Amino acid sequence: MEHAVNPWVAVAYLIAGVCFIVALRGLSSPATSRRGNRYGMIGMAIAVATTLITHDIASLPEIVGAIAIGGGVGFVIARRIQMTAMPQLVAAFHSLVGLAAVLVAVAAFLNPGAFDILGGDGNILAVSRVEMALGAAIGAITFSGSVIAFAKLNGNMSGAPILLPARHVINLGTLLLILALTAGFAVAANAGPGENGMFWAVVALSFLIGFLLIIPIGGADMPVVVSMLNSYSGWAAAAMGFTLHNTAMIITGALVGSSGAILSYIMCRAMNRSFISVIAGGFGAENGGGGGGSAEQRPWKRGSAEDAAFLMKEAGSVIIIPGYGMAVAQAQHVLREMGDLLKEEGVNVKFAIHPVAGRMPGHMNVLLAEASVPYDEVFELEDINGEFAQADVAFIIGANDVVNPAAKTDKSSPIYGMPVFDVDKAKTIFFIKRSMGGQGYAGVDNDVFYMDQTMMLLGDAKKMVEEIIKAL
Ligand code: NAP
Repeated sequence: MEHAVNPWVAVAYLIAGVCFIVALRGLSSPATSRRGNRYGMIGMAIAVATTLITHDIASLPEIVGAIAIGGGVGFVIARRIQMTAMPQLVAAFHSLVGLAAVLVAVAAFLNPGAFDILGGDGNILAVSRVEMALGAAIGAITFSGSVIAFAKLNGNMSGAPILLPARHVINLGTLLLILALTAGFAVAANAGPGENGMFWAVVALSFLIGFLLIIPIGGADMPVVVSMLNSYSGWAAAAMGFTLHNTAMIITGALVGSSGAILSYIMCRAMNRSFISVIAGGFGAENGGGGGGSAEQRPWKRGSAEDAAFLMKEAGSVIIIPGYGMAVAQAQHVLREMGDLLKEEGVNVKFAIHPVAGRMPGHMNVLLAEASVPYDEVFELEDINGEFAQADVAFIIGANDVVNPAAKTDKSSPIYGMPVFDVDKAKTIFFIKRSMGGQGYAGVDNDVFYMDQTMMLLGDAKKMVEEIIKAL
């Protein structure tokens, strides 16, 4: 049975799709990202309006009621959420996309007539069975994976990897079983509405595998997981689009899926992890996540805001490395002010951003852009790492893991292999954090604290920079 699509609807969805592609293009550079966002909003408005006008699956009051409930809840959560809790929120939202995909597939399975996918023989069309099984599988993996990611990021669950014995065998076996059941469901002779139990088995095993794939991932590797789940949620939405015969959902889902996959790949490269092992679950965990902070006392030097002001004013070049603590303290505005004052003194000021600094991809870029730091003063890891050897000052503000030399030298460290800034090559290092006890995300000690050229500036990042500004 062919599902007739109104040609005007197809054109409207096509225009929306083009807007989304232009939006993604815009988002590839901070300078054009606002424009990109605007195109994305226009595309989404066109897609939503078209769906509201045609609304062939649900009635208008149902759609408006659902939007009011979901939108209301989303509005309250978005207003209340702390900027620092953003990654968990993103993970939670991904889980909802996954769940929606499962529910759509279940609805189509139970009532295929309403979705126009019932064949003449009383069975659901074979191609639709493949679509709904895959959609439910990807959705269920996205759901349970995102719930675990949420719990890990939110601290409800230990961030450390949980390693089951023979987990690769279990994971691979479960995945193969899901594929075999999907194939079995597609060719089954009894596939009427709600009839074949293989569908439910696919759903149950997929919930399980989502859980199994994410529990072994820990420490510094969570950002890759979040972007990977983002990609999965896109594929889940695309699968829903097939079941609902909605071109806009297929296009949007595929764009989210593929851009999320590309982002995961880029982050894997930045973290020096293999893409395949991420998908297989439990990468970087072979070393048992050891290398933890030792309790031994080592000598370190405490500096003051005045020391920092004096030395930076005299410096030829200062490289500022922001991290998660800058986001917590919301120190980006005062930091830009400090950079401006130094530039007035003739100092060459640069900002160095690590791909996984903060708690979400692009976290530091967004904050620095918000504080109007000029884009040409912001550099990526590989573009600036060679400059530390000539820098007079490395100014670390709320960063920790991304400057930890253990990533280069300590094979037992959970961050081993991740490229880090060579701050140890700078003549002087200022390191802002609140206490000597607090560690970075990966929970490991950092040798930079104890280096001869390091001065620890202990205190809240924003207050410390304000004091430096006063002293300047
Ligand atoms: P980090 O390793 O998490 O270290 C944060 C530092 O900020 C700590 O030293 C902390 O020490 C300090 N700090 C916290 N609040 C502060 C405040 N108010 N004022 C001053 N300092 C403060 O940060 P990072 O170097 O940015 O590293 C990012 C880590 O997060 C990586 O391991 C990365 O893999 C992981 N991660 C990244 C993402 C992503 O997408 N970017 C997502 C999830 C996880 P005190 O507590 O002593 O102040």
